[in-house]
Amino acid sequence: MSSSVNIHPGVDGGLKPAAPGFSGGTLQCRCPGDKVTVTVKSQCFHNHVCGCTKCWKPAGSLFSQVAVVPRDSLSVTAHAEQLAPVDPSAVIKRYACKACGVHMYGRIDDTGHPFYGFDFIHTELSPDSGWAPAEFAAFVSSVIESGFKPEKMAAVRDRLKALNLEPYDCLSPTLMDAIATHSAKKKGVLGTA
Ligand SMILES: [Zn+2]
Ligand SMILES: [Zn+2]
Repeated sequence: MSSSVNIHPGVDGGLKPAAPGFSGGTLQCRCPGDKVTVTVKSQCFHNHVCGCTKCWKPAGSLFSQVAVVPRDSLSVTAHAEQLAPVDPSAVIKRYACKACGVHMYGRIDDTGHPFYGFDFIHTELSPDSGWAPAEFAAFVSSVIESGFKPEKMAAVRDRLKALNLEPYDCLSPTLMDAIATHSAKKKGVLGTA
């Protein structure tokens, strides 16, 4: 695979399909020992690469890779004492390992938020294979905010399309529709049925 644009180690070599019946696994931080371990009892959903400046990404990676799982399916099963929120005032509280800096999961406490009930995870932290692969690219233009040269954006979008990761400058239409539907129901302009 020849390309000068690296998106993320999890997608640069092509996407691995989800394993049929896969029902979760563990996520581990990158400490050599005493790893924070998170157990997820669910396949992930809406996996995607994200260009925003808030999501954790491995060193040298242009994008992060992030998915959601039902929050009931996620628990910290080792070294919870090593976790702390990166920004306690953020809408999505990203819990990171204080020793290695890896974000283990992101959680929304606001019950009125459209994505309340879902936690955000990085499947690359899992030794288990079978997770649903990335489906699209979100917040693509935001990589410029991390210092990427604007004139190289066409090459980034071409590369994403070649990987079958449709580039969006916000979230995917499915997720944008979900947010708008949530707002519309809150305002009462849509029926609840
Ligand atoms: Zn760690
Ligand atoms: Zn992001």
